[in-house]
Amino acid sequence: MQCPYCTSDQTRVIDTSHDARGGVRRRRVCLACEQRFSTYERAILTAPMLVKRDGTREEFDREKLARGIRIACAKRPVSASEIDRIVGEIEATLQAMGKAEVSSRVVGDMAVSGLKELDHIAYIRYAIVYLGLDDLRSIRDEIDHLFDT
Ligand SMILES: [Zn+2]
Repeated sequence: MQCPYCTSDQTRVIDTSHDARGGVRRRRVCLACEQRFSTYERAILTAPMLVKRDGTREEFDREKLARGIRIACAKRPVSASEIDRIVGEIEATLQAMGKAEVSSRVVGDMAVSGLKELDHIAYIRYAIVYLGLDDLRSIRDEIDHLFDT
């Protein structure tokens, strides 16, 4: 561990403690400048890589997903915290899968079903883009579907 004061690599752990959430905190002293500092170590859940339709992979990007949902919700009575909740649930679901890779379609499907419960107009807007509804017939079918359910 590098000293944040003088960047020396020569540091020594003088105390280790565990917190309730499973994190480990270490008090350290720098052997070069004798400053003391702490480090905190905690396990981070990672989301799987997303495999796109063309076979390329990209990292799950929370901000990008939120942006897409926000655009679909423009001028609709959907609050920022509701959008945040959908994004958080999608991220948590991805992390809980414990997989290295999933189809990016999985994320789109979750966003679509989250919006479906929240606001039908936002849902249709999102579905047009992400489900690739590119003609009026398939958009109408999707809307008919909403009336049926
Ligand atoms: Zn130092």
